[in-house]
Amino acid sequence: MSALVLDGKALAQKFEAEMRERVARLRERAQGSTPILATILVGADPASATYVKMKGNACERVGMESLKVELPESTTTDELLAQIQALNENPDVHGILLQHPVPPQIDERACFDAIALEKDVDGVTCLGFGRMSMGEHAYGCATPKGIMRLLEHYGIALAGKHAVVVGRSPILGKPMAMMLLGANATVTICHSRTQDLEGHIRRADLVVGAVGRPEFIKADWIKDGAVVVDAGYHPGGVGDIELEPLKERVSAWTPVPGGVGPMTINTLIFQTLEAGEKALA
Ligand code: NAP
Repeated sequence: MSALVLDGKALAQKFEAEMRERVARLRERAQGSTPILATILVGADPASATYVKMKGNACERVGMESLKVELPESTTTDELLAQIQALNENPDVHGILLQHPVPPQIDERACFDAIALEKDVDGVTCLGFGRMSMGEHAYGCATPKGIMRLLEHYGIALAGKHAVVVGRSPILGKPMAMMLLGANATVTICHSRTQDLEGHIRRADLVVGAVGRPEFIKADWIKDGAVVVDAGYHPGGVGDIELEPLKERVSAWTPVPGGVGPMTINTLIFQTLEAGEKALA
């Protein structure tokens, strides 16, 4: 029996159609106003510029607006903090995305944490992380939250399952682990100092690859029937997990591309819509 493909691309398209209707209804109620996502791009990194453009395009597809803030590579922490403060105070802006990574002279954590909680639609603040971890409301970090929405849609059971998250970055591995814990999985977090990584992965019912190294997690480390979520993306359409040999023997897997990536952007605009609905309704 072939495994279930967790098709993030198709799901994002379905969710976009639903969001288009919600935006239209909101516009009627709010005298023509729509949710607005402010995107901040610092510097000229081509990959970051592409991601910001994709996020703006996704807003457009559902009838929302985006406000593009582009700052030079030489921007200081104080200058970026001032921009974020202005967006926090702008009542027309409902969500703020600071594209990661920022140039090295900037204190990225300070800038993330300057985003007002109610506009933190990318889920990057410490306050939002803490609230989410405690089971309180906060917008989830977009990539792990997108993975949770994907798993939920496909009815993947998590309670009591052993989830192994490989990676502990603030925007992916850590919030992923807390979200899985919140869904009653038993969670192991692995990182570069983990001993016997292979052994941990062999015991996993669900594996999340968030390492940032192409096909680093080998197919033969993963047990038959596991659920495999690959958050990685590398040139040539390769993820962090060696997926090809797994397709026939796991129970479900995310393709690369077309799995986690589209759900990340979809979650960002979904949470912007929710923030807009709260502010405009
Ligand atoms: P990151 O900040 O570089 O973190 C990588 C993590 O992997 C770190 O926690 C690191 O451990 C761990 N790691 C590195 N080498 C390891 C090893 N040999 N064994 C075990 N763990 C190891 O990366 P990230 O931002 O979380 O991104 C991870 C992947 O997700 C990348 O491929 C990225 O392109 C992708 N991504 C995709 C999306 C999307 O929308 N699809 C969004 C964000 C990221 P230490 O903490 O010990 O250093």
